Amino acid sequence: MKPPAEDRELHGHPPIHKTREFAVSPNLQSYPDTYKSFDWDVARDWLSGLPGGRGLNIAHEAVDRHADGPLADKLAIRCVDRTGAVTDINYTELKAATGRFANVLRRLGVGSGDRVFSLLGRIPELYVTALGTLKNTSVFSPLFPAFGPEPIHDRLVLGDARVLVTSTELYTRKIARIRDRIPSLEHVLVVGEPVEGTEDLEQLMFEVDEDFEIPDTDPESMALLHFTSGTTGKPKGAVHVHEALLAHYASARYALDLHPDDVFWCTADPGWVTGTSYGIIAPLAHGATLLTDAAEFDAKRWYRMLADNRVSVWYTAPTAIRMLMRQNPELAARHDLSALRFVASVGEPLNPEAVVWGQRVLGLPIHDNWWQTETGAIMISNYVAMDIRPGSMGRPLPGVEAGLLRRGEDGRALVTDGRVEVPTEADQIGELALRTGWPSMFRGYLHEPRRYEHCFADGWYLSGDVARRDADGYYWFVARADDVIKSAGHLIGPFEVESVLMEHPAVAEAGVIGKPDPVAGNLVKAFVSLRPGVEPDDQLRLDVMGFARKRLGGLAPKEITFQANLPHTRSGKVMRRLLKARELGLAEGDLSTLEGSS
Ligand code: ATP
Ligand code: MG
Repeated sequence: MKPPAEDRELHGHPPIHKTREFAVSPNLQSYPDTYKSFDWDVARDWLSGLPGGRGLNIAHEAVDRHADGPLADKLAIRCVDRTGAVTDINYTELKAATGRFANVLRRLGVGSGDRVFSLLGRIPELYVTALGTLKNTSVFSPLFPAFGPEPIHDRLVLGDARVLVTSTELYTRKIARIRDRIPSLEHVLVVGEPVEGTEDLEQLMFEVDEDFEIPDTDPESMALLHFTSGTTGKPKGAVHVHEALLAHYASARYALDLHPDDVFWCTADPGWVTGTSYGIIAPLAHGATLLTDAAEFDAKRWYRMLADNRVSVWYTAPTAIRMLMRQNPELAARHDLSALRFVASVGEPLNPEAVVWGQRVLGLPIHDNWWQTETGAIMISNYVAMDIRPGSMGRPLPGVEAGLLRRGEDGRALVTDGRVEVPTEADQIGELALRTGWPSMFRGYLHEPRRYEHCFADGWYLSGDVARRDADGYYWFVARADDVIKSAGHLIGPFEVESVLMEHPAVAEAGVIGKPDPVAGNLVKAFVSLRPGVEPDDQLRLDVMGFARKRLGGLAPKEITFQANLPHTRSGKVMRRLLKARELGLAEGDLSTLEGSS
């Protein structure tokens, strides 16, 4: 195993020091002390709980308590539709609409623990469905509307869906033909003209009262069912409970520095956990204004969204940042981004080049965050008050204990008689693990208890990711355990190679895999997409290879294939397993979350 050399550690990029402005942010003034004294009871005290000590309900904290307090008239959600038209919903209106939806469910006989799915674009009804479902103590499970009928079918069946909220168009195109194969599904409520087999959501909402008293809610009761991104295989259904809110709230405070006067835009669709934890729950729980956009990525539109809505905190993903990096920097300069305090990123490793670009072109720090569907909330972060190390995921948040477990032959944590080893020296590489017990830890993979059990050992949750921690406690992503490449005795993380390739001026994005080789065991192979206007040829290939060799020596790719578009999951991650399967002529596996598939 080759320890990464110190000079490669930062890829030559110095840390970005935070300005005083950030250090005095009211949330963070007492930061070092808060950090030391933090435990999850502190987070519990930030929330109000249901009146009369009747438990903890996410929707109460995100909606009703603001509607019943000084934020009643404040803008809660601004939904921008595809044409750019805006629907503004204040906290009082959100309370009324979600109260109506909860009453609709109650009238349909849908109760605690029942699964309510959504298959909707990012329109107001999606947010009302989510929060109204939680008010009713039913379970909300959002599906990404671009899924094809079969992936939708599989998820509805696995999740025992009783209710589906969708649009007439999506029903006709995707649900009608699978409906009779989902025996648990009793009600399909549609936005738009109802067709046979569906009920009119607007009419139902009109017929019920807007007042709804949230029933007693056990904080341990199931609230959300979220499917993983399917990057490594068939998606799993992760179960989260109302208690998770403690972590949504605390992480939004520490990692995103949210305040009621923030305008917060999370570009992730609620079909992915980021789009629910931070695209619905956390900003509302903080009484901030949540911005949503029904359209997909478009560089000009996105800059306009940021400028026109005076977004102050922006949460997005490396893939989007890489797409912005392909644009002429002039485009950013033409927009007034003066309200924006910083950018946060999650979902994939954030290449140091992207952090440097943010500083240069946006004039803003980009804070990487690490977490998973299973963790429910941000766990490791370059949180706002701390210096950013470009290329690092940051440090564990208050209340989160992370460790790197010694790995065995298969690349995963070595578990011997139920025990694991947790070396503490700096720069060890191990499987990233979290001490169990944080509030947003998933409580199960639905209907897969054995798989769930296998995620835990000796009081640790094993993440399946491999990382390194430097002497100052910053974590550096190496690879998913499945993606680590062993080549001629070296251990190579594709992320490091991809990050170096991206520093070449012609390269837009890279995906790196290990390709079996009789001599080296594996050789490093890179798939590279080029910036617009750059033509692939052998000369360029040699140039990129030479560039990588100079930086990476023996870790540089031995083969490079230019490819206009790399395969991505719908949540924006490079699908290395598919690059590998195609390269080796192997079965492609579950492709339900492949972008562009149906
Ligand atoms: P599946 O589990 O179905 O294969 P997935 O792991 O991609 O899909 P998610 O829960 O959406 O599903 O993604 C979590 C994973 O994303 C992490 O385990 C990690 O591999 C990657 N990831 C998230 N954030 C970061 C980050 N900041 N740096 C590096 N990797 C990250
Ligand atoms: Mg995963």
